Amino acid sequence: MKWTAIIVLLLSAACTRTPPPPSAPPNIILFTIDTLRADRVGRGLTPSIDAVAARGRRFTAARATVPLTLPSHVSIMTGTLPPQSGVRVNGGAGLAAGHQTIARVLKDGGYRTGAFVGAYVLDRRFGLADGFDVYDDRVERDVSGAALLEAQRRGDAVVNAALAWLPSSDPRPFFAWIHLYDPHAPYDPPADYLGRAKNVPYDGEVAFADAQVGRVLDWLTSSGQAGRTVIAIAGDHGEGLGDHGEQTHGMLAYDSTLRVPLTLAGPGIPVSRVDEAVSLVDLAGTLVDFAHRPRPGTMHAESLMRTPIGERDVYAETDYPRSAGWHALRVLVTDRWKLIASSEPELYDVREDPAEARNIAAGRSTSLAGLRGRLRELESAAGATSSNATPVPSDVAERLRALGYVSGARDEELPDDRAPNPARHIAAWNAFERELARLASGDPRRALPGLAGLARAFPDSPLFQSTYARALKDTGRVTEALDIYKRLVARWPRDAALYHDLAVAASAAGLPKEAARAEQAALALEPSNAAAANGLGLLHIENGRPSEAAAAFEDAVKRDPTNATFWTNLGNARRAEGNTSAAEQAYRKALELNPRHVDAANGMGVLLVQAHRASEAIPFFDRALAGSPRFLEARLNLGIAYQESGNLEKATEQYRRVLELAPPGSREYQAAAALLGGSKQ
Ligand SMILES: [Zn+2]
Repeated sequence: MKWTAIIVLLLSAACTRTPPPPSAPPNIILFTIDTLRADRVGRGLTPSIDAVAARGRRFTAARATVPLTLPSHVSIMTGTLPPQSGVRVNGGAGLAAGHQTIARVLKDGGYRTGAFVGAYVLDRRFGLADGFDVYDDRVERDVSGAALLEAQRRGDAVVNAALAWLPSSDPRPFFAWIHLYDPHAPYDPPADYLGRAKNVPYDGEVAFADAQVGRVLDWLTSSGQAGRTVIAIAGDHGEGLGDHGEQTHGMLAYDSTLRVPLTLAGPGIPVSRVDEAVSLVDLAGTLVDFAHRPRPGTMHAESLMRTPIGERDVYAETDYPRSAGWHALRVLVTDRWKLIASSEPELYDVREDPAEARNIAAGRSTSLAGLRGRLRELESAAGATSSNATPVPSDVAERLRALGYVSGARDEELPDDRAPNPARHIAAWNAFERELARLASGDPRRALPGLAGLARAFPDSPLFQSTYARALKDTGRVTEALDIYKRLVARWPRDAALYHDLAVAASAAGLPKEAARAEQAALALEPSNAAAANGLGLLHIENGRPSEAAAAFEDAVKRDPTNATFWTNLGNARRAEGNTSAAEQAYRKALELNPRHVDAANGMGVLLVQAHRASEAIPFFDRALAGSPRFLEARLNLGIAYQESGNLEKATEQYRRVLELAPPGSREYQAAAALLGGSKQ
């Protein structure tokens, strides 16, 4: 009997400690699967993820810190909460330099490091590339150069890139981050995965992403690395799919979008299941522990490997509703309770009511007050400041005044406590997403009535107002659009994107001076705003100032180095200046980023013709025309390249095509007619 007692004592003592790490630092692979709901794993749809979970540590109550891609990943990578990192929504300036990330700590600790991301929303310009030897964010962008955060690369292409990097003779352990964006809307899985998912498109995307995870697992096995590799798999947030009326994610904070799958497996990780509430913010420190590196003080200190995990308060938030003029949400989750704080508190017993169907806040003022106090404690521990309370720095305010804008000390906003709970207006948000999709697909006329209605119904929403203005501009009503933008920058004078939108409208209205002032205001507020720098460059080009334009485009590509359109504009400006070698460099960079960029291909061809290398130019013009058969300038240039290389027959054929396609009297038409006359002689 005595022996048994001693053994029990030893066991329980061992159980309260984190298990010791294995001797050599392991490889680490972190998969983040975008928009993956917690309830989609473990039910046959995700055999690869389920296999990892079966041999590792599975968390059944993990939450994202924010139901949005960039801020959630910032928490995953830095181990900080959004109030600490300052990254609370997608886009904008992203994560400031100097934050400690998993990649930075592991690289400094002797790891080779590679990231492979599937969406522009995680482009290097948003701050997560530091510490990665390779940051592969080759996501094809819209040729307009517009920052479409939804631009994506399929998971098979992402994993192809990762599988090209993983095998190496380098003896150092590796850290790879693989981001699969496929389950994010729009849901468009390859046909066989759609079939496997009983024709539910979202589920088909989940199955496809899982299969990509499986390809990496197969490589780990075949390369003999499986036994020395720690695998972490997490969703970055879920998806509404109609729960609580929400279709996508970001606007509400229910568990359909906050709960995520999370699993860890590999050497030293026992098979276990954790039902207590944990947060993705704990992942960074845990992975740093596996690598035997000291944790930076900024990283959340609680390990996902501690046993027992114990009860604790988990923090989450979303500021996204502010863009619609609604109340931001702050969330406290424990094993049993979930408080969603806004102008209308919601309290759920998530143990008894995991669907969050019954708000039991009424009549529980005492426990509500206690939970609210704990939420405030978490927020202030994370260094929270209300983001709309920060005044514009005085030098920036001075610059805005000099440009002719109101002083811009701070936004005139509703006090947050009067703004409505976004859950009350989710139907309006769904309508907005529908109209926005129409606008993005080039159908502004159909989007206009719906957007006009939303703008009328929600005058406090900068997003609804500016999107309505954009639809007006896109249907040619530029003066009305311009008037709205002027009103918007007077009301929200800290929003750099609004000034840029104003500039685009002013330029379309034939007011280049006004446009330039607005771009300068955008840059004063947000020096990293690449779209504004590019806009200034375009205005300089129109005014025949190629050197000033080139300087502005240099700024744009410095701030957004993967934007093929900005590189092409730089090439055009350098060519106009007569700096052919710099022009060629810029065009080649653009084509490296997007081999089908028609303007870059055309520009490269023009350079070669001018350098008397016409035969080398022909494939570039062909490439431009393959991408855009009605690109008349490229067709004319192709004719010239043939003529210059002595092929008059093919030159004539191209000039004739231009005459067929171009409006009579146009520049291309006149040039083709003249050249055709010349080539006949
Ligand atoms: Zn996401």
